[in-house]
Amino acid sequence: MALQRTQVLIVGGGMVGLALAIALAKAGRSVVVVERNEHPEKIPEQTSLRVSAINAGAQKWLTELGAWERLPNDRIAAYQGMSVWEHDSFGKIEFTAAQADLQALGTILENQVLVAALWQQAKSVGVELLAGVGISKPEYHESDVSVELDNGNVILAQLLVAADGARSQLREEVGTPVIHRDYEQQGLVATIESSEPHQGIARQVFLAGGPLALLPMANPHQSSIVWSLPSVEAAAMCALSEEEFSQQLTVASNNCIGLLKPVSERASFPLIMQYAQEWVHGRQVLVGDAAHTIHPLAGQGANLGFGDAFYLAKQLNTLGTLNGQWDNTELKRALRGYERARKAAAVRHIATMEGFHQLFTGNNPILKMGRSLGLSLVNQSNPVKDFFLRQANELA
Ligand SMILES: Cc1cc2nc3c(=O)[nH]c(=O)nc-3n(C[C@H](O)[C@H](O)[C@H](O)COP(=O)(O)OP(=O)(O)OC[C@H]3O[C@@H](n4cnc5c(N)ncnc54)[C@H](O)[C@@H]3O)c2cc1C
Repeated sequence: MALQRTQVLIVGGGMVGLALAIALAKAGRSVVVVERNEHPEKIPEQTSLRVSAINAGAQKWLTELGAWERLPNDRIAAYQGMSVWEHDSFGKIEFTAAQADLQALGTILENQVLVAALWQQAKSVGVELLAGVGISKPEYHESDVSVELDNGNVILAQLLVAADGARSQLREEVGTPVIHRDYEQQGLVATIESSEPHQGIARQVFLAGGPLALLPMANPHQSSIVWSLPSVEAAAMCALSEEEFSQQLTVASNNCIGLLKPVSERASFPLIMQYAQEWVHGRQVLVGDAAHTIHPLAGQGANLGFGDAFYLAKQLNTLGTLNGQWDNTELKRALRGYERARKAAAVRHIATMEGFHQLFTGNNPILKMGRSLGLSLVNQSNPVKDFFLRQANELA
């Protein structure tokens, strides 16, 4: 058994944990990241199923961290337009990056490609990266936390960051109460080919069962779909033949980019809203999906997590140290400041997504007419469009 000391131990080398690690290491903090997956540094040869729409604000920060330039050009797709409408109806919102003097509203990226770029950058700025390792029970003390790894080694850290995703082991370890809402929906994901080019426009159509998002990929005829469906329907869609699925998908998309056919397997993920009621427990702090998960209909989950990492790094990097140690009271104050600010951001997003979900799910004809009217009004009203454009531009 080896004992290692570090200032910050981050459990979870996903996008959020790695971005935080880089920001801290660049400011001279000693950081160790423990990631359960093996080979997170590898870019998969085939296009992978999970993608995220990264907004311009998050992109700017990832560029400052030095990770963005490590992304391979042929695996990233900036989108300049967005189109949102209700299935078979007259209501539509359309807006473009040019309306906000932006080059792009965001970029569609495979999660694994972004993680690989972040991992490589973390390594180059001196973060100690341990892949293929999990953790067992941590022990919490007044001024540090000790964590035993699967391989028997122990890490003693001044601060333990739980960046271990929606099913956070560390959050459960300390019994943090969580507000949980199961949408009883699954997000069906697949890569598809369209007979017409996507033209760099991200599209979202609201159907009775939930929204279908068509996210443009680097290939002008390829998109990644996220189709929110009631769980039973999602399972049925996954089981359809390729031809039947193509038909259903093309109809659901209102033929917006012609005939659609899957070019990958189909997979589905449960859609839940989760919100941890306490983000700080002594020397442990939650970030990203460990603290909150939101409905993917606005593609904001990862962006919100980057907002957490940005803010936490800013708080920690302004703290002084004595003999390499943080002062207990100052650290506590910094963590509380982080918790207050980021809880407010998460609640804002959760409330917005909840509103969208309530408004757009279901087939009630009166509600449907109201929605179409609402979308038409939104399309005409510049202040509301400005709101959407701000969302695209700012770190969430
Ligand atoms: C269908 C779908 C579509 C989405 N689309 C978008 C989108 O378009 N835009 C967007 O911004 N967001 C989107 N999201 C949300 C986004 O995927 C998440 O918010 C984001 O991945 C969270 O990042 P994270 O680093 O916090 O957690 P994760 O990505 O879950 O990473 C956690 C990491 O911790 C590791 N880990 C867990 N436990 C341990 C342990 N005990 N020891 C060591 N390692 C551990 C895991 O292996 C993993 O690598 C979507 C979500 C879904 C379900």
